[in-house]
Amino acid sequence: MKKLRIYVDMDGVIADFDKASKHPPIGSKKGRPDLWVDYLYLDIIPGAEEALSYLNEHHEVFIASTPPWSRIQVWADKRAWLEQWFPDLKRKLIFTHRKDLLIGDVLIDDSNYRGQPDFQGDWFWFNKDWPSKNWKACLKFIKKLENEKYNIQNYIRYKNDMSSVLSRLPDIDYEEYSRDQLIERFLPLVENLARKFATSQQAIGVMTINDLIQEGFYGLCAGVDRVNWETINEAKDKEKTLKSFLSKRIKGAIRRGIDSNRGSMRIPEHKLNEIRKDFGEDKKTVELFLTSSVY
Ligand SMILES: [Mg+2]
Repeated sequence: MKKLRIYVDMDGVIADFDKASKHPPIGSKKGRPDLWVDYLYLDIIPGAEEALSYLNEHHEVFIASTPPWSRIQVWADKRAWLEQWFPDLKRKLIFTHRKDLLIGDVLIDDSNYRGQPDFQGDWFWFNKDWPSKNWKACLKFIKKLENEKYNIQNYIRYKNDMSSVLSRLPDIDYEEYSRDQLIERFLPLVENLARKFATSQQAIGVMTINDLIQEGFYGLCAGVDRVNWETINEAKDKEKTLKSFLSKRIKGAIRRGIDSNRGSMRIPEHKLNEIRKDFGEDKKTVELFLTSSVY
């Protein structure tokens, strides 16, 4: 596994600057909490501790922060704060007013006026209050990157093959395609669906993106053989109907692939579907599910 180099901002990402800035002392300058907030006693942002322990274990993490230029004491306070909450990040603290100068894969930062948009890797625009931008979402984003970076060579080769195949396809109605051509035409759909699985929790550590594409491909072949052209031709939107029919087969195949590869004990598909629909209410089946898994 390739380690990612990840830079994590402090205020608003791991240290709760917002909360502290809500209580200005009398006579303080309005709109500039950075001139009076006590950085040494900032609370920790929810989820930051767990997230950083995961990142630290699997990747190379640095803290990249911008202390207020005029308050020299804050430079020391930030160092002390980090030691209190994240002793593992010793000597991993970078102070800079130019985040775009950092070299790495990911920058997790909540503001955009210190060069973040020009960071050469991926900038994750963090916001603790947005479900799509908080630590949970951020970890999901990182895990997606992990998956993409794992098998990059084979995956790129596959993508090149696919685009050359697609460029050779004639521009005719679906029904006029041969079986092979129809399968080729929907290869991007398989990739698309497989990528969605790769980011979801169930596939992580079980199968790679290439494996998922392969399983989806089996589903596509089976689906193409079972297309009912009468139904398709009657449909208002032929492409949409055909796509949704094949998607169902592809997703089913990928899901079955994950299920049969996920553990040393194989649970029949109908049982797994029961567990999925039950959402953990039946303790016994959940136990079965967990003891069969690779986790
Ligand atoms: Mg910040």
